Amino acid sequence: MSNDADAPAIQRRGLMLVLSSPSGAGKTTLSRQLLENDAHIKLSVSCTTRQKRPGERDGVDYRFVDTATFRDMIERNQFLEYAEVFGNYYGTPRAPVEDALNAGSDVLFDIDWQGTQQLEKSSGSDLVKVFVLPPSNRELVRRLVTRAQDPAEVVTQRMAKAADEMSHWPEYDYVIVNRDIATSLIGLKSILTAERLKRSRQGGLVEFVKALREGR
Ligand code: 5GP
Repeated sequence: MSNDADAPAIQRRGLMLVLSSPSGAGKTTLSRQLLENDAHIKLSVSCTTRQKRPGERDGVDYRFVDTATFRDMIERNQFLEYAEVFGNYYGTPRAPVEDALNAGSDVLFDIDWQGTQQLEKSSGSDLVKVFVLPPSNRELVRRLVTRAQDPAEVVTQRMAKAADEMSHWPEYDYVIVNRDIATSLIGLKSILTAERLKRSRQGGLVEFVKALREGR
């Protein structure tokens, strides 16, 4: 019979899982499914000044704020990172991320390469960076058009931006080519599992092994 209550605790250091991709690669679906499947990771809900799309919920998908509010938050140093994407501001509020990490939870970020570079500077070793690619350009265009939640000129703008965004893939630790969501989700969960098991993220291992060796 095990006597785990007496063993020294192995505390895991929370990690920051970043998912980036061009619009239309399936990153949002993938992140939603990961969150549904894993209670130990929480989404960092970004603030944005862009218009809400049909079906999006304030405080769940994004916190939708006006430009004055966003600028005020920048002034008050309330963002871990922020960037201008497609003419709108997007930013990661600092406090909820710090609270989640302090509580031992992992945090998922659905942010672009600019935000990832900023997080790298502030949170280097906590970061695990995953880039999601579409299976083909044809499929990327199809997904952007069939999503049809954005005006036509926005879709055109996003397609033009995709090539530029995809050039940042070498800055990431892992790359998932999203041919189908189920397979991509298995890949993403495997990355998370392996990263959680990294020796550097398991605090208290020295004490734990010492106790094992001493027969305690
Ligand atoms: P969308 O308007 O399609 O929701 O997002 C557009 C782009 O902005 C996506 O690449 C998304 O990952 C990125 N994005 C969303 N939130 C943030 C954020 O807080 N910071 C940064 N840097 N990018 C973000």
